[in-house]
Amino acid sequence: MRALLLLPFLAACAHVQTTETLVEPEPLFELTRATLDIDAPPPTPYDIGAPVTLMEVSRSEASAFKAEAVRLQSHSEPNCRQLADAISAHLDDVKMYDRALIRYVGSYKFYGVGHSYESDGKWMIRIARRLDELNSRSLVDELRTLRHETSHTLGAGEWRIGEEWSAYDYAERCR
Ligand SMILES: [Zn+2]
Repeated sequence: MRALLLLPFLAACAHVQTTETLVEPEPLFELTRATLDIDAPPPTPYDIGAPVTLMEVSRSEASAFKAEAVRLQSHSEPNCRQLADAISAHLDDVKMYDRALIRYVGSYKFYGVGHSYESDGKWMIRIARRLDELNSRSLVDELRTLRHETSHTLGAGEWRIGEEWSAYDYAERCR
């Protein structure tokens, strides 16, 4: 199992083009905070389990994600209201991973719980439902990842630049 989990990282890290058609996006990783949202490695053919759409997962998750967009529409922060529109626009593009993609860096193990990248003009947003077999993630965790990953579609980066909010800012300040 560990070997399988290592493969996505190794493939991503080495920038190996694993298939002719796979367009490998620029990987985005947060390495400083093990407990927060870590962007998952780019998907590869080695990824475990096919991601499923929000509607295929569970009614409660689908409705919670929709409700998040509605909640943010009346948020006091303009940035969060903008995020509400982005979430509404991209909800159909959200897919769920069964569990986090794991990346090893030295002696550290990072759980990639979310992922967003643009491919052929279409955004792919992926959110992990569990950390691993033993550890599930709460709906609150999933919604935080939704805010983080969707903020990338608004141009948010991993780190704050001047007054521009980072993905972390969107995830935390729009709670
Ligand atoms: Zn990110």
